[in-house]
Amino acid sequence: MLRKPEWLKVKLPGAGEFPEVKSILRHYHLHTVCEEAHCPNLGECWGSGTATIMILGEMCTRSCKFCATKTGNPHGALEKDEPLRVAQAVREMGLDYVVLTSVTRDDLPDGGAHHFAETIRMIKKLAPDALIEVLIPDYTGENLKPVVEAHPDVIGHNIETVKRLTRAVRDWRFSYEKSLKVLEEVKELDPTIYTKSSIMLGLGETKEEVIEAMQDLRRIDVDFFTLGQYLRPTHKHYPVARFIPPEEFKEYERIGLEMGFKYVASGPLVRSSYKAAEYFIKNIIKG
Ligand code: SF4
Repeated sequence: MLRKPEWLKVKLPGAGEFPEVKSILRHYHLHTVCEEAHCPNLGECWGSGTATIMILGEMCTRSCKFCATKTGNPHGALEKDEPLRVAQAVREMGLDYVVLTSVTRDDLPDGGAHHFAETIRMIKKLAPDALIEVLIPDYTGENLKPVVEAHPDVIGHNIETVKRLTRAVRDWRFSYEKSLKVLEEVKELDPTIYTKSSIMLGLGETKEEVIEAMQDLRRIDVDFFTLGQYLRPTHKHYPVARFIPPEEFKEYERIGLEMGFKYVASGPLVRSSYKAAEYFIKNIIKG
């Protein structure tokens, strides 16, 4: 197994607002992707009052080979009061930038799209000043519409890896082309909503393939792009092929900005939702 390089070693959580964020999340029985995905930035983000809230439960109907989320069939279970609890927690945490994400729910007729939309509307009602970013499953057509109509500020959908590795790394029900279609349809339905995507590096991709993915995203006018190092959650998950040095991440950032992304966050510890990225995006939205 590859040994983790120095640049991936991070501080343990415990400082700043960490205990308060934790107690609010527990009080409202909310899940975070920070914990589910064993995110290395949990201490830094929670310590500064940021958390990415995961809705639609904690069991995913898909099974991506890089992901630590539990998989199975929740048989249509849905907590009807979750949108309200999320909005109450956002208000209590005083967040000015909220990121909502979810598992994929193939067991629900609409994939949970209306639940997503309701959560956005509730946050707008209880915390009207908060900017809202949603990281959605591969909704298209009738499932995408309610989310777009609820009008979050940013809609993200991750392509996760380059085209060639999609089959090997993501659940078989995802496709590279469908993921691009999600992002393209958002802009067609409402060009005022910013779009965002992300990939993990270190899965065996080549530089040319990363650049091709960036070009594919720019072609459909994706605004924000993030790149981070893939870390294997357990030995059963997809292996790390390589630890990408920070200079290579910098190079992708430069290339991405030259291609016209409004913002690129690229670094070993960057994740698709990440407080530093959110800080910049917030400033871009607010002009
Ligand atoms: S769809 Fe894949 S990446 Fe997303 S939560 Fe499910 S298993 Fe994880």
